[in-house]
Amino acid sequence: MTPEDFQKVFPFVRDWISQTLAAHAPKAKSVASFNFPRLSRYYSNDLLARAKVVFVDRCPVPPPSSIGLGQFADFENMNASGITYLDTYFVLWHEAERESLHFHELVHVVQWQLLGAEHFLALYADGFEKHGYRNSPLEVMAYDHEARFNSNAPPYSVEAEVRQQLQQL
Ligand SMILES: [Zn+2]
Repeated sequence: MTPEDFQKVFPFVRDWISQTLAAHAPKAKSVASFNFPRLSRYYSNDLLARAKVVFVDRCPVPPPSSIGLGQFADFENMNASGITYLDTYFVLWHEAERESLHFHELVHVVQWQLLGAEHFLALYADGFEKHGYRNSPLEVMAYDHEARFNSNAPPYSVEAEVRQQLQQL
């Protein structure tokens, strides 16, 4: 996707995100309110208080067909366990208690926050197009941190490390 194409599509995606988050806002709860035992070893209390979760039967994704992004049809059909927009992530009900999934989506919250919406979406779309979902750089980062979490890594600041890693992208 060229930068020009991205610029055409970005306003639609941005508006879709605003509308989607507004529609789900009444059901959104802070991550902190769930008192997961391990997240606070890797994320600041501030982030856990600001980041929000919504449990859903199906994760909402932008309708790419309606905005002319045929190459992103895969994304629409992925049926993800979790997905993050800005400071809010959606998780399937039956995965609601999987702490590592919350951990993974929080990496994306940090990425959204540090990059800003436009840059996050441009990088994500580019990585997805070139490398596919699992090998796109922003997902590789999230999966690598998740693997450290799952191997009981000693506490560290995900926010600080992601900040450094984004500078190197
Ligand atoms: Zn992810």
